[in-house]
Amino acid sequence: MPRYDFRCRSCGATFELRRAMAQANDPAVCPQGHQDTVKLLSAVAVTGGASGGAAQQAPSGGGGGCCGGGCCG
Ligand SMILES: [Zn+2]
Repeated sequence: MPRYDFRCRSCGATFELRRAMAQANDPAVCPQGHQDTVKLLSAVAVTGGASGGAAQQAPSGGGGGCCGGGCCG
């Protein structure tokens, strides 16, 4: 069973849990009882600083409706 490292953002403690991969993204509770924890990437090489370029831009303007001129209202 893989081991995952977590870090508590409340007290700063780091701890590790062994859990199934299906539960890798489940929230972990700090040994101190805090629930504000983040999963650390261990033994995983993260290349590149900015990952995931915003290739899809948000549409400008509201759009929607058929014509926006009140023909359908
Ligand atoms: Zn904590």
